[in-house]
Amino acid sequence: MNRDELIKALKCEDFTPYFEKADEIRKQTKGEEVFIRAIIEFSSYCTMKCKYCGLNCMNKKASRYRMEVDEILKVAYQAIDAGYRTIVLQGGEDPTFADGKKLAEVIRGIKSKDPGVAVTLSAGELAPEVLKFLKDAGADRYLLRHETSDRKLYAEIHPGKTLDERVETLKTLKGLGYETGSGFMVGIPGQSIESLADDLLLLKDIPCDMAGMGPYISHPDTPLAGNKNGSVELTKRCVALARILLPQANLPVTTAVGVLDLEERKKAFGCGANVIMRKVNPKKYKEAYEIYPADLGETDVVGERKDLEEMISSIGRIPL
Ligand code: SAH
Repeated sequence: MNRDELIKALKCEDFTPYFEKADEIRKQTKGEEVFIRAIIEFSSYCTMKCKYCGLNCMNKKASRYRMEVDEILKVAYQAIDAGYRTIVLQGGEDPTFADGKKLAEVIRGIKSKDPGVAVTLSAGELAPEVLKFLKDAGADRYLLRHETSDRKLYAEIHPGKTLDERVETLKTLKGLGYETGSGFMVGIPGQSIESLADDLLLLKDIPCDMAGMGPYISHPDTPLAGNKNGSVELTKRCVALARILLPQANLPVTTAVGVLDLEERKKAFGCGANVIMRKVNPKKYKEAYEIYPADLGETDVVGERKDLEEMISSIGRIPL
């Protein structure tokens, strides 16, 4: 699909034919399996000023923590014992982790327990030499959403940063042999439908192995407070179009979709998605890692995985 066709589709009255097409492609390329990934948010410290994110360094109300290597490993091992085959390590741009040494220890610890478990990093724009060091330490994948392909909007909501730098890092990741994930928020204040079409084309241009699309959720302690949340319907449309553009990609139903609407989270698997992530950290860290407000319960690594497996089986898919 070209830009005009994408814009037309995003704006159309009845999107059903595209959802059906995306579901059909997903069946052919990815089958019925849904991958469940464990996510550990290792630090809520961040030096960035992203205007939508509750962890931006200007937010004095944010609660800050950073986990030690052995603490991260303890949670990772619980997740592996519960059946997870991918551990996602996500955090703010915390200077303590910027040289990659602690993350490398975590990666080695996970691989020594089970070399078949994949490690995905999501730690922002690390220096190219650090990304190489982490790849050599055994990291398999990297998630770094481009957030918005609208240059002006990007610069506005990421003070001091540019879209070109972000895309450059994504290309570095690809060059280093990471399975590379990008993605974007849907409904950022000031975003247009046209720019969503460009977001989708950028995923293809990189080209991404994975792509996460989630609705923007307004956080009261950020400069963008008071804006309305992004649309779940429009998010699902983006997921479906991403499946059509990138038939082989791994596409999650993002956590943000579930935060806004649990029923829609289930339905989104019929729009081309084949992945879901679950937070496995203790409740105190999940609550402190407040990129956007969400209602989070006690963590039960084994029980919550079972619940997800049941949900996935109930829609006729195979949990993995
Ligand atoms: N520091 C890392 C991880 C950021 S958190 C990085 O920069 O890549 C992961 C994702 O959460 C972000 O990429 C962003 O797309 C999303 N996010 C952050 N704040 C959000 C908000 N208020 N609403 C919806 N999604 C948000």
